[in-house]
Amino acid sequence: MTLGEGTPHVCEVAIAGGGPAGATAGRILAGWGFDVVIIAAPEGEKAGEVIGPEAIHILDALGLTELFARSPEIATRCDGVVSHWPSSGMDHSDHRLRGTCGWVIDRPCLGMALMKLALENGCRWLYGTVTTCRKLDPSGYQLSVNTRDEAQVVEAKFVVDATGRTGSIVRRLGARRIVDDRLIAAATCLDRTTSQPDPYLRLIATPDGWWYCSDGPAGDTRVAVVADPRLDAGKPQVLGGALRLIVKKFHQAWQSNELASRMIILDASSSRLDRCAQDGWLAVGDAATAFDPLCGQGLAQAFGSALAAAHAVRECSAGNADALVAYDHAVQDTYRHSRAQLELRYAYRAESERTPFWRARIRPSAAV
Ligand SMILES: Cc1cc2nc3c(=O)[nH]c(=O)nc-3n(C[C@H](O)[C@H](O)[C@H](O)COP(=O)(O)OP(=O)(O)OC[C@H]3O[C@@H](n4cnc5c(N)ncnc54)[C@H](O)[C@@H]3O)c2cc1C
Repeated sequence: MTLGEGTPHVCEVAIAGGGPAGATAGRILAGWGFDVVIIAAPEGEKAGEVIGPEAIHILDALGLTELFARSPEIATRCDGVVSHWPSSGMDHSDHRLRGTCGWVIDRPCLGMALMKLALENGCRWLYGTVTTCRKLDPSGYQLSVNTRDEAQVVEAKFVVDATGRTGSIVRRLGARRIVDDRLIAAATCLDRTTSQPDPYLRLIATPDGWWYCSDGPAGDTRVAVVADPRLDAGKPQVLGGALRLIVKKFHQAWQSNELASRMIILDASSSRLDRCAQDGWLAVGDAATAFDPLCGQGLAQAFGSALAAAHAVRECSAGNADALVAYDHAVQDTYRHSRAQLELRYAYRAESERTPFWRARIRPSAAV
């Protein structure tokens, strides 16, 4: 879609980023009658993603459980997690014992479905990258957008940053990113070698980190290795070598140049903004808070924060100035709670896995 040339395009809410958080926030707000423009740069490659059964309420609230159940190309059942620990053996967490299941997601198909829902609710969708965002006097924001064909301008009363881990829009408006723990991942996607998908996510801890694999909806197996970028094992070359060795187990036939062309390196750090909302802007999903992949919480939080953000924008537009503060507190609390749980898990594991990777997981925050 092209919004037009020359003159700025005016809307109530401009959302930078059309991933799960941005598309969902836009869909909800447009459904309530807001004039919403989503500005979406192309989706980057992702690691294999699984949504755990803890997300059931938010998925239900957004109608996504039903969507997943009838769309095997978007999501297939995940019955649990089987973890292997060098010192303590195997843990088995079976979702079926709780009478529920999780979901293995096909990200491109999910992205298409979320965009369709947003468009059906009346969002305008602009393919492009927001390059600048400046505050207008006395209120509102002006965004410069690079599209494939031309530069465009969008003006909005309210801006939502849904740009993922960079949070690049609100950082321009003064928000600061706090990194609690630095992790890096190398990930790839293979053709599945078995006729039936494995319904479990397999997580294998090693002295230098951990890796996981899960069978995806597209007849694929996704593998990712996670390590600490400050240790030797976390240097991209070494990490790539570790992924290559693991993949060899699955795919004897694969040439290493074939893997290299399909391998992606991702930031997997735990981080948050020092404030997630203020003065006509807010951040959602990874832009606000990014979780250690061990939590498997990123998508649930993208959806949950999008719903909370939509409520905050609506409240704010109705004159409730405290709504943004309440949103910020809620998002920060969720992150703090999750970090506390994670640090307990790491502390427990560091007792038996006595290597630099596991012992280094409990550390004070560092601002960047
Ligand atoms: C190794 C790894 C494993 C993971 N495993 C899981 C898992 O098992 N389960 C789970 O729930 N989560 C997992 N996650 C986290 C999950 O991928 C994220 O939490 C999720 O993608 C966040 O969605 P989002 O919409 O906030 O951001 P994103 O998905 O990053 O979307 C942001 C979008 O904004 C666009 N964008 C960026 N900048 C601009 C700009 N300037 N202008 C316009 N558009 C822009 C991008 O192109 C992108 O499409 C994992 C993450 C990693 C790194």
